[in-house]
Amino acid sequence: MITPISKLPARVLRTNTKNLEFPLKKDKLRLIRNMLDTVRAADGVGLAAPQIGKNLNMALIYLEEAGLPAFPIINPRITKFSKEMVDIEEGCLSMPGVFGMVRRPKKITMEAYNIDGEKFVITDDTFLARVIQHEVDHLQCILIIDKFDTITKGHELLKKYQ
Ligand SMILES: [Zn+2]
Repeated sequence: MITPISKLPARVLRTNTKNLEFPLKKDKLRLIRNMLDTVRAADGVGLAAPQIGKNLNMALIYLEEAGLPAFPIINPRITKFSKEMVDIEEGCLSMPGVFGMVRRPKKITMEAYNIDGEKFVITDDTFLARVIQHEVDHLQCILIIDKFDTITKGHELLKKYQ
């Protein structure tokens, strides 16, 4: 089911998230399926639970176009950040039309849980690392509007989102 996406300045985007407990209940599994339908319909690369109005510590990574099957990251934690930083243009489904340059560590290591409650670790320095950082920021109430070095598109929309 496609769910409406919360847009700034929705409070849920600035509300602390709660860890999920395992085994996941049916409503959480349904939520993950809804997030998949929603991110696919919105043509996004990731979606965090607060973006569909739930203050839960979970996001979905959706890089199927890059050949990676979609997967949730549950209770994720980034445990290592590289010193090397990169500037990449980012947008956000909670702030459509606005894009800007965001500086982030190039390489990260993340620990998270899958839907079965099994821990997994990803170390990456590709676009995946960028998407993971963007989504984990959402789970900590941080949005790219807080991080922009420069706005590249949509200046005129900024007021609406503040
Ligand atoms: Zn976002």
